[in-house]
Amino acid sequence: MATEFEIIRRHFNRPAPSAVLGVGDDCALFAPRPGMTLAVTTDMLNAGIHFPPDAAPGKLGHKALAVNLSDLAAMGADPRWVMLALALPESDEKWIAAFADGFFRLARRFEVDLIGGDTTRGPLSISVTAIGEVPPGLALRRDAARAGDEIWVSGTTGEAALALAHLRGRVALQGAALGDCLARLEAPEPRIELGGRLRGLARAAIDVSDGLLADLGHILEASRVGAEIEWEKLPRAEGLARCPDRALAAECLLSGGDDYELVFTAPPPKRAEIESLGRDLRLSLTRIGVAVPGEPQATILDAEGKVIQVPRKGYDHFA
Ligand code: ADP
Ligand code: MG
Repeated sequence: MATEFEIIRRHFNRPAPSAVLGVGDDCALFAPRPGMTLAVTTDMLNAGIHFPPDAAPGKLGHKALAVNLSDLAAMGADPRWVMLALALPESDEKWIAAFADGFFRLARRFEVDLIGGDTTRGPLSISVTAIGEVPPGLALRRDAARAGDEIWVSGTTGEAALALAHLRGRVALQGAALGDCLARLEAPEPRIELGGRLRGLARAAIDVSDGLLADLGHILEASRVGAEIEWEKLPRAEGLARCPDRALAAECLLSGGDDYELVFTAPPPKRAEIESLGRDLRLSLTRIGVAVPGEPQATILDAEGKVIQVPRKGYDHFA
């Protein structure tokens, strides 16, 4: 059985060129670039709550980092450093090696360095803290939307939730639809480049972790504006568009979590620039509605402008 220190040395002590001092001392040391504001976020994943205990370790390593990088993206911050706190039921080195592989593959892609953490025994739990930089005043805050802003979403929402519905036996997906939806659930792609390029272009942003309406709702609350969303414009992936259970598809689209797309608002004159950014990144950016004065609620409208009643439930751990 490997000891705690062997586990850290073998699996988590990697060069951290962007830090002054990485893994191995009481603290890590790092210096932000002069004048930059630091953005810091933590997200925890617990076995049995956020993933099944037998989930593939490589995918877990990816996802634990991806969800944190997604928060930095939603703030418009460039990711730089990460910390990893791990509780492991046993020192299963094969598991740990696969976990580290998934984690570092993603870290390398965005040039993020692991600079420290903690390793203990306990029920499987993974907590990542990610640190990024953003120029002063340019962070994409939830409270920055204004009435008249257009509301945009990247990619498509609902596939991760549809995959979960499949795993729970609520629907039977097949072929490419199944593969696509599972990939969204297990290996989400943090929209890092998009977040960075939206600085100075978008006003407010949030990542979709709890559901499109729930997360948009956080922007509306913080910014004290309402929203009108056009049902027909909501981007739908193949798997969702073809899902025979229409009620389930609608629920996933509006309220399914775990997609990690960005929802953002921007003044109408920025429209052309945002469209060209989408082409640049080869990522669809869809205008789904507008922010309006009034109660901080999203109204969904059909093609004729009539209000559609939809069930609203975002994900809440304590509900
Ligand atoms: P301390 O007793 O000072 O908390 P630890 O023995 O817990 O130190 O950790 C030793 C070093 O290894 C520290 O630099 C810590 O940041 C790092 N470390 C521990 N666990 C991890 C991990 N899972 N990933 C990255 N670094 C880790
Ligand atoms: Mg420690």
